[in-house]
Formats: sequence, C-alpha cells, structure tokens
Amino acid sequence: MLALENATVRFGRRAALDAVDLEVADHEIVCVLGPSGSGKSTLLRAVAGLQPLDGGRVLLGGADQAGVPVHRRGVGLMFQDHQLFPQRDVGGNVAFGLRMHGVPKGEQRSRVEELLELVGLPGAARRAVGALSGGEQQRVALARALAPSPRLLMLDEPLGQLDRTLRERLVVELRAVFRRLGTTVLAVTHDQGEAFALADRVVVMRDGGVAQSGTPRDVWQRPASEFVARFLGFAN
Ligand code: ATP
Ligand code: MG
Repeated sequence: MLALENATVRFGRRAALDAVDLEVADHEIVCVLGPSGSGKSTLLRAVAGLQPLDGGRVLLGGADQAGVPVHRRGVGLMFQDHQLFPQRDVGGNVAFGLRMHGVPKGEQRSRVEELLELVGLPGAARRAVGALSGGEQQRVALARALAPSPRLLMLDEPLGQLDRTLRERLVVELRAVFRRLGTTVLAVTHDQGEAFALADRVVVMRDGGVAQSGTPRDVWQRPASEFVARFLGFAN
C-alpha cells in the first residue's frame, strides 16, 4: 500500500526525516511512537503531500507520489487539531468529506448514516457538534475522515485530548472499525498503551529515523536498542 524509500525532509541543517525506509501493507494498522520532535508528524505530512521531500520517494499502491497533490493521493487525514466545523451539524461535517469527493447529493444522506452507525453514533446527523462530548466529536471527525473511503487513513494523535478511560475504550472500537472496513492505517500516538492496543505493528522513531519496527509484542519483549528500551520504560 505505502512505501517510503529513503524519504528525507530537512529543516535547515536538521533532518526531520532522515532517509526513512518504511512499508505499510494493505489492511495493516501501524502505530508510530517516538519522543517529541522525532519526526512522527513530518512523516505523516510527507505521505499526505503536505510536506515536500528533500530526497527519496513516497509510493502509494506502487505509484510514486512526487508532484501528486494532497487531494489526489486517496489518503484520509485526521489530526488532533483538525477541528470540526462548528456551524454545521454532525451530518454536515461527515458529508463534507463526501462532497469534496464528488459523491452525489442523493447518496450522501445514506452514506452519512452508515458512517455514523459505524462509529457508534447512529441517528446523530442532526445534532449540533457543540453539544457533543469530546469522545463523540472525535468519532465524528473519524467518520468524516473515513467518508471518502481512503485507501490509507492517517491519524495524528487522534485521541490526544481525551481522558485515559475514554481513550482505552475508543481504541478498541477503532480497531474493530478498521478491521471491518479493511482500512490501512498509519497512526501517530504518544501513548504506548494506545499503540499496543491498536497496532499490528509498531514503529519507534528517533531523530528522524526508524529505531525499531515490529509487532507490539516484539518491540515490548525485545527492544532493539537501549534507546527503545529506555523510551518504552520512561514514556508515560
Ligand atoms: P511531537 O511528538 O512533539 O508532535 P513529532 O515527532 O511529531 O513531535 P515533528 O513535528 O515531525 O515531530 O518535527 C520533527 C522535527 O522537525 C522537530 O525538530 C521540529 O522542530 C522540526 N520541524 C517540524 N516542522 C517544522 C517546520 N515547519 N519548520 C522547521 N522545523 C520543523
Ligand atoms: Mg507531532
């Protein structure tokens, strides 16, 4: 599905992405962990086409994405600060993703209802987003990101603002939703527990590079380096 080859992004002298090689298979759920500043968001932005590469390539479905604009890459994005539109109701927010992708108006309503059911908010289309809890708003944002059936869904700290209890519950539900849809997911999180509950594979980043990539169990039981061991031990 996704391949990064030697992907490099520089800000001044510093490489935010330093010759990264990474593959994500179809239907795979990959979580990216790593300290602040290690390049996690830059990685997602580069894949989405929001951040140009200074070297290397991003391939989606085998095709080099150089010069392909964001809306043509077929990726869904959900950022922590990706706010809902407060002036639209829940349905209007979810339908936004459909309209952008040219789904005919007649089909939009039933698709919106399907998506809301999927994220556990059936019948919520007419509700005002301001009247929803934080967790409910996250689900609406997720439904909006899923609306155009992206071949790759990228999440940057999608549950970052929620309390631990809600996160733990949502993460289990999310995994079930992704499994059901067969969505390929690349998600950044600060929270190890979240990564280990959500992911088929965990990628630990350090200074713009990949320090380790493996199943949650592998990474947990056999950290590849002192750095990974310490990161797992000391991160909260
Ligand atoms: P966090 O966990 O804090 O979100 P991150 O792993 O997502 O961190 P990035 O946002 O990818 O880190 O940033 C990687 C490095 O690149 C950091 O040193 C950051 O300061 C730098 N950086 C990111 N974006 C820019 C930019 N637009 N201009 C200059 N430097 C940048
Ligand atoms: Mg970040």
